Amino acid sequence: MPIYLDHAATTPLRREALDAMLPLLTDDFGNSSSVHGFGRRARAALDEAHERLAAGIGAQPREIIFTGGGTEAINLAIKGVAWAGKARGHRLVTSAVEHHAVLHTLRHLEKFGFEVVILPVDRYGRVDPDQVDGAINDRTILVSLMMANNEVGTIQPLAEVVRRVRAHRGVLIHLDAVQAAPYLAIDAPALDVDLISLAAHKFEGPKGAGALYIRHGTILLPQMHGGTQERYRRAGTENVAGALGMAVAFGLARAEQPDTAPRLAALRDRLRDAILALPGVELTGHPRRRLPGHLSVVARDIDGAALVQALDLAGVAVSTGSACTTGSTEPSHVLSALGFPDEEARGSLRISLGRITTEQEIGEASLIIPAEMGRLREAQASIAADPLGEQVGA
Ligand code: PLP
Repeated sequence: MPIYLDHAATTPLRREALDAMLPLLTDDFGNSSSVHGFGRRARAALDEAHERLAAGIGAQPREIIFTGGGTEAINLAIKGVAWAGKARGHRLVTSAVEHHAVLHTLRHLEKFGFEVVILPVDRYGRVDPDQVDGAINDRTILVSLMMANNEVGTIQPLAEVVRRVRAHRGVLIHLDAVQAAPYLAIDAPALDVDLISLAAHKFEGPKGAGALYIRHGTILLPQMHGGTQERYRRAGTENVAGALGMAVAFGLARAEQPDTAPRLAALRDRLRDAILALPGVELTGHPRRRLPGHLSVVARDIDGAALVQALDLAGVAVSTGSACTTGSTEPSHVLSALGFPDEEARGSLRISLGRITTEQEIGEASLIIPAEMGRLREAQASIAADPLGEQVGA
């Protein structure tokens, strides 16, 4: 079996979530808006999903809106708040290392007259709370930040940022917790943010299921128009199975966090030491303030895309940068924001462990990954020395 070390891209559906979903995909398939028994059973399952996910993040069930994934939750949060707040102001603040779901949504809003401020980050990928503070003026309506970065794993100094933003009245905070959710406590009242986006497939829930926490009293314009579902905030027949699968997976991930996080951090450190032992390999992201199962590096003189393919053939699934930039030759906007020149950013590798990762897999990966990196670097060096193959067989 290949070793799967790309949990930041997605995770497999866990058995308990599938077991909760199966009846809703078979016998209890009703539409939760229908009044008959089929509909009532679907409604009960949807209510249960709201209750479970809300309990998991310290919220009320009515503060949870189920969506078709992380990207949709983020779009609803940002566009919903931007359009609802337009009369008060039009300035939206974010960081340069956000996921494209955030950055492209903001770029879209710019076309309609919103002013977007994209803050720089330090070499580890952290925003400076003082700069967040400085970017807020009386026209600012929203600050959108990620809790932890998908490409380099860095955790933002969130408490400090929130404290600064809260000093300004009327500025809302949206937290993209998609990548952080399996490993960091997401407690809405303690975080003191207004909106939180989540995606089920990052914590062994189903793909195409996500949720947005909307703090009670937050004014947001729906982005999907039609029926009255999700308290008028997200029209369309609900994915009941997806919502319950998500809620079950989240509850389990949260309960297991105290065991999973330190175990994965120790395995990750072992792999990190094996890879950083190679010359010319540098860690990206923060050395300590990073997600526990997350390892990202740049390797000089190695092409990241070629390395991912070589590792795939050798039985290890990893990625360069983020899943969405895979296949693209563009260097990652995250590594550029951290100050890595394009040629170095092209040698990037992201290795992300998950709950199901075993010690044995990390033992094997600790041998395979450095060996493939060394092999590829030699191969690329010999091609560079003799690009036309004139010395071959000479
Ligand atoms: N935000 C972050 C930080 C992510 O890592 C991702 C997915 O990789 C998303 C948002 C988008 O989530 P989804 O793929 O569920 O739409």
